[in-house]
Amino acid sequence: MTSTSQRTRGPQPQRTPGGFPVVGIVGGGQLARMCQPPAVALGLTLSVLAESPTASAALVVPHSPVGACDDLDAVVDFARSCDVVTFDHEHVPGRVLHAVQAAGVSVHPDPSALRYAQDKIAMRDRLTQMGVPCPRWAVAREQQQVEDFGARVGWPVVMKAARGGYDGKGVRVISASEEAQDWLARARTARDGDGSPEGVLLEEKVDFRRELAVLVARSPSGQAATWPVVQTVQQDGICTEVLAPAPGLTHQVATEATAAALRIAGELEVTGVMAVEMFELSAPGEPGFVVNELAMRPHNSGHWTIDGAVTSQFEQHLRAVLDLPLGATRARDRWSVMANVLGGSEPELYSAYRHLMARDPALRLHLYGKQVRPGRKIGHVNVGGSDLEDLRARAGHAADYLRGVVTR
Ligand code: ADP
Repeated sequence: MTSTSQRTRGPQPQRTPGGFPVVGIVGGGQLARMCQPPAVALGLTLSVLAESPTASAALVVPHSPVGACDDLDAVVDFARSCDVVTFDHEHVPGRVLHAVQAAGVSVHPDPSALRYAQDKIAMRDRLTQMGVPCPRWAVAREQQQVEDFGARVGWPVVMKAARGGYDGKGVRVISASEEAQDWLARARTARDGDGSPEGVLLEEKVDFRRELAVLVARSPSGQAATWPVVQTVQQDGICTEVLAPAPGLTHQVATEATAAALRIAGELEVTGVMAVEMFELSAPGEPGFVVNELAMRPHNSGHWTIDGAVTSQFEQHLRAVLDLPLGATRARDRWSVMANVLGGSEPELYSAYRHLMARDPALRLHLYGKQVRPGRKIGHVNVGGSDLEDLRARAGHAADYLRGVVTR
């Protein structure tokens, strides 16, 4: 590994004249990429520490040095050229974040908050202490503990890796304790923040009505803002569609879910955008929702805000991490629908534009500059208006057309 003193300093990010700051984003994925248009409009400079020169954000951000998010020297070097540092994903180790802070650069969210988006066991523990509704849960290190949990809450049980999961990877539904053996063996060798064996998270399999998400932004001085509660639709663990606002959601559940998200953001002292993923419940006597997980960064459930809200989640994230006043979050349309574009077998996408643009001029297309691979999130489409079913059909068609599963 190259030490900081040995490393040759590359070019520094070019600042906008007039005292504008540089926002550093660790990770060069599509979330960092989608921060670039609002950064340009606001006169901010982005700098991205990218996994490769062809990472989604590196293609559009002029200052994108290449480095791994767990390379302490690379991240600290990068951070020194920025006024604040934030993230495209949650996988930056705590020791790296603390080193950035020790170098005098502010990190948003603070590692003490980010921890609850990095470690699902820590998140469950903290939310339960706060009295936020959660599925029944336990930590297991031995098969007998899985057996006991299944006997208590009923089979099947949802097993989750404490760290590193995304898009449903790291989640397994099990019908017997033997099915946990390989994960338990792996988890026994992993260490949590205290150096103890990490264990796996077990949750009851929630019989939910649908999945909801509340997006909240909070700044270091404590200003907070939320967007309307949305419904997220997943297939095979991947979000395919977001409906904003969640259709038919009662005022009471919307208010309680929003209040819970604001409270979590405040108590954990989150800075930047956070998504609180929830399951809506419908049985009498149950709370209206339970929290599934937290993401502390712009989130797929908020992509609709680029076209559908006065201030997008990406602009809001930049404002929040710089402690600028937050923008209005009001929806522009009665309904907004976002459909994720997943890769199909055809690597060429551009030719599809002519057809889609002609067919539906109101469609907003967003592509991430990623190589097409089957099932990979490569973009999304947004559309807003007053007829929800029509919007769903149009967004769904465009995503299917780009994926190549429909041809007209
Ligand atoms: P990831 O971190 O990979 O996004 P999640 O914890 O969000 O994983 O789980 C992925 C999906 O698995 C959820 O969107 C939901 O559909 C399902 N799921 C997760 N936890 C539960 C649970 N306790 N009960 C029922 N379904 C669940």
